[in-house]
Amino acid sequence: MLFDVFSSNSVDLRMFLFPWHTNSLLLDILCMPNKEFSPYGYCFLFFYCCSKLMAERLLLRALSGGKSTKIVTLNGKKLKKMPSTLERLQGLQTLDLQNNLILNVCPEISSLVQLTVLNLGNNLLQEVPEEVKYLSSLKKLHLFGNRISRFASGVCDGLQNLVLLNLNNNQLTSIPPEVNRLKSLTFLSINYNQLSSIPRELCLLINLSELQLNYNKIICIPEEINFLRNLQKLFLIRNKIEVLPQELCDLANLRILDIAGNKIQIFPPGFQKLKLKELHCEGNPLFLKKPFKAVLQDDLCSLQEITSRFIMNQLNEKDPYLMKAIEYYPQVRKIISHARPCAICGKHFVTMWLECVEFVPPSKKWKTNYNLRLVPLQKLVCSYKCFNRRAPNTFGIAQA
Ligand SMILES: [Zn+2]
Repeated sequence: MLFDVFSSNSVDLRMFLFPWHTNSLLLDILCMPNKEFSPYGYCFLFFYCCSKLMAERLLLRALSGGKSTKIVTLNGKKLKKMPSTLERLQGLQTLDLQNNLILNVCPEISSLVQLTVLNLGNNLLQEVPEEVKYLSSLKKLHLFGNRISRFASGVCDGLQNLVLLNLNNNQLTSIPPEVNRLKSLTFLSINYNQLSSIPRELCLLINLSELQLNYNKIICIPEEINFLRNLQKLFLIRNKIEVLPQELCDLANLRILDIAGNKIQIFPPGFQKLKLKELHCEGNPLFLKKPFKAVLQDDLCSLQEITSRFIMNQLNEKDPYLMKAIEYYPQVRKIISHARPCAICGKHFVTMWLECVEFVPPSKKWKTNYNLRLVPLQKLVCSYKCFNRRAPNTFGIAQA
């Protein structure tokens, strides 16, 4: 019945049928094509009108509450714009606008200084909107399921109380370094985006306890990951990670690590000491490299390597002359800053080493969802001399 009425070309008739319309609703209806409208089209129009009218009624009810209104839910109301009248709800704490068609955040939102939860999930936003930076009380910001490919400039300057940020299912290719200004963040989730890296600055979010970066294109994890000393859950499912940094093993509070579906062949030294409750690493090419037992070989080091090792040994023995002289050689300091210790003798090397693998059983406290019998751990050895002193569960790795 209603569908037939809509097929009329008379504007007046439609106005008569909707005496309770608002101007915006009337304009929306007039913009829709009259001709060749399928029954589905009418159906859409009908529900569109109903949603919009319901939204406006809900909003009117909220506005009548004035400052005492704490929660407004306009979920799935096909809104194209945020209602600017929201600014009158100064006491608003929760605003749920998910599942709409919102393209932009209205500037009036900045007056909602008591807002703690803002849900703009499943809309049409293209950036993390600048307007939210004025929401000084905001604790939870949901922006999942939009078309976000960038952060508006300055957005991280506000949001000093933000503890949760959900950006799942968007189109981000990078995270801006300014993310480190979100000092209170404890939960960050950017699953199903296009990220290829994690900025070092993200590791300055020292309150972070859960980080989810599943289904991206991340190649490596920054060494500074150990700054995240409160991190308890790290999810990196289905990325392109080949190497885990040794610094990951410093995360004393890490309890869940999920790195399933990456390209990891070997774990860094010290990995077995992590106090995990869950480790998920299925779908990685765990140890496809060829282990070998050594044949006796001479150690041939470059002159730079020999000199570096000598200097580092002298410094370890606190040679007073060298300790004074090194202050004037920043380049040397830079070279030896990359030194790593030999797993057998403990002496340092810089550019030449032998990569070995030690197979150890996983900790009995780790819950894994497949039969992980042995964990391949990387061991770096300074020389063939040390290699020939290795334990029987350690093997050399043939270089490709
Ligand atoms: Zn050694």
